[in-house]
Amino acid sequence: MATNCVDCGKKFNRYFDDCERFADGFVCRDCANKRFAEKKRIEEEKRDNLTMDLNNRYPTRKRPTSVTIISWLIIIGNTIKIILIISNPPSSAERLLLSIIFGIIFLISGIAMLNGHNWGRWLYICSFLIGAVFGWLLYGFHLISSMIRFAVFLFIYGFLTNVDADKFFLPDTILNKQIEELRKKISDPIELSEKLSEEAK
Ligand SMILES: [Zn+2]
Repeated sequence: MATNCVDCGKKFNRYFDDCERFADGFVCRDCANKRFAEKKRIEEEKRDNLTMDLNNRYPTRKRPTSVTIISWLIIIGNTIKIILIISNPPSSAERLLLSIIFGIIFLISGIAMLNGHNWGRWLYICSFLIGAVFGWLLYGFHLISSMIRFAVFLFIYGFLTNVDADKFFLPDTILNKQIEELRKKISDPIELSEKLSEEAK
């Protein structure tokens, strides 16, 4: 049964020769491969465009280096502090308890900041201030050490509340959270954008 390839017009036998059947007729092997390659190219292009579009609409959050460094310093510093205090406890029980409680709160805030939780930075800032007040009430006000601590605090405060930090911490909204979760589960941009438009309805 002689058949002409719809694409190139080459004659072949559709029962014996290697060919493909498409909706518009029979196509020889070479032309079929070209069609498949073209289809794949279009799909990849669509995927690239969708990825670009999704990245524009929902930019992934970038953690500023300053936030990373501060968070790790808080985590490491307070871990060491807790270990030192437990291995060499002060005579006063309330001092021991307060040091451990604040150490743990700072640890939690450091981990929360690394994970981009907005409450993490405010937990750190508020508990630092509360801790300072506790310190003054319990152990008296020491000008030099308080000034040094506050200078360090203001430095950290600046980095935790600047524009880059706000961009990182503030998309802590329900919508962005959902999109972030979806992105972790769905890597294919076509599937992801279908899911997003489905949920937008
Ligand atoms: Zn052909």
